[in-house]
Order: sequence, then C-alpha cells, then structure tokens
Amino acid sequence: MRHSDYYQESKYCPHCDLYVRFLQSTEACFCVECGAKVRLFSPQDKRAFQRSLRPVRKDSEDRQKRVS
Ligand SMILES: [Zn+2]
Repeated sequence: MRHSDYYQESKYCPHCDLYVRFLQSTEACFCVECGAKVRLFSPQDKRAFQRSLRPVRKDSEDRQKRVS
C-alpha cells in the first residue's frame, strides 16, 4: 500500500467543518477524526459545483424555499 495514494484524497466533514481524511466503506465514507459521514463537497463548494453545471437564477431558488 502506497501512503501517497492513501493520503491523497480528502472529503468534507460537516462535524469538523473541514476537509479530512476518511474511511471508505461500501455504503458511505466516514471522517477519521470524529466518525461522522463525510461528503464530497462542503456546502459552499457544492453550491459552486452545481452552479457550474447548471446556472440557477436566484429568484427561482427563493420561490422553492417558499413552497416547502
Ligand atoms: Zn469529522
């Protein structure tokens, strides 16, 4: 096992509020620091990623919030 490969990737832990190293399981990935489920992106980066895929107008976002 090459350590460089193991340490290369990190994911966002909402509990630590950081990009952390993670443990991979079949269902999900977990933070090595606190054991919480980690995500691929932080909420900020996820918004930026989604915006890069499909431009979303701000007024349509507001309308969705009011419906739910
Ligand atoms: Zn964590």
